[in-house]
Amino acid sequence: MTIQHAADLLSSARRGLALTGAGVSAESGIPTFRGEGGLWTRYDPVKVASINYFMSDPAAYWKVSKERGGVALAAKPNPAHQALARLESEGHISAVATQNTDGLHQDSGSKRVIELHGSGRMVECLDCGHRESRAQVQKRLDDEMPPRCPACSGTFLKPTVILFGEPMPQVAVREAFDLAGQADVMLVVGSSLVVFPAAEVPLIAVRSGAAMIVINAEPTPVDRLAEVVIHGRAGEVLPEILRAMPISA
Ligand code: NAD
Ligand code: ZN
Repeated sequence: MTIQHAADLLSSARRGLALTGAGVSAESGIPTFRGEGGLWTRYDPVKVASINYFMSDPAAYWKVSKERGGVALAAKPNPAHQALARLESEGHISAVATQNTDGLHQDSGSKRVIELHGSGRMVECLDCGHRESRAQVQKRLDDEMPPRCPACSGTFLKPTVILFGEPMPQVAVREAFDLAGQADVMLVVGSSLVVFPAAEVPLIAVRSGAAMIVINAEPTPVDRLAEVVIHGRAGEVLPEILRAMPISA
């Protein structure tokens, strides 16, 4: 059975790598971009999440961000995040590389988290470099639109996420590629795997000899390369796999 097969692969893994996308946080109440009911059915992503749009109209960017940020800041880790933290603490995976910017892996106890698209928990002033927490900025959005920098009064406060049109964080991408090259098991959870560099990570791992497990609500482009494919909800499937692992009994 596929759950058992995944459990066996993970219990023998010693340097596995997990790659997660928005699907892993869906059950925490944060909507995904793609997939059924995804945000991209309501907004044009390339418009609202691009650096050009932000620079031309920070207020318009922040109006969307205010709504999304409120949801993301209030979200709590779900059983999928917790299962991944446990796989790390028990020595089966060495890190979680994530496309998510919500910080929920860290909240659930994962120690080595590689943020491929940056973090939505911090905000940086593009004029003076002053940094403050996203939660702090969220508090004044009712009175300030766009929000102003408390240090220089500038109006270009940007969450430390990677927007469309911005370069990828080189160090994080390198780290993910290196770990993929050394991985014995590649565990992909809740990513549609259509954007770079996320799409590349599992390919590197498989090419280097890793066995791949894919858990996603719908088919992905790498399913045919995987040893185990489970189409389902991450918050249900991952705990089931952990229960089937001998050492977690
Ligand atoms: P995506 O939105 O493109 O794809 C998410 C995938 O998860 C889809 O294939 C969907 O079918 C699947 N999915 C949905 N619910 C699931 C569940 N409960 N269990 C398992 N799978 C489920 O996400 P992406 O590939 O991560 O790319 C979008 C980008 O937007 C991300 O890279 C990220 O930077 C950003 N984003 C971040 C967050 C977040 O931080 N939580 C949320 C939305 C988007
Ligand atoms: Zn400033």
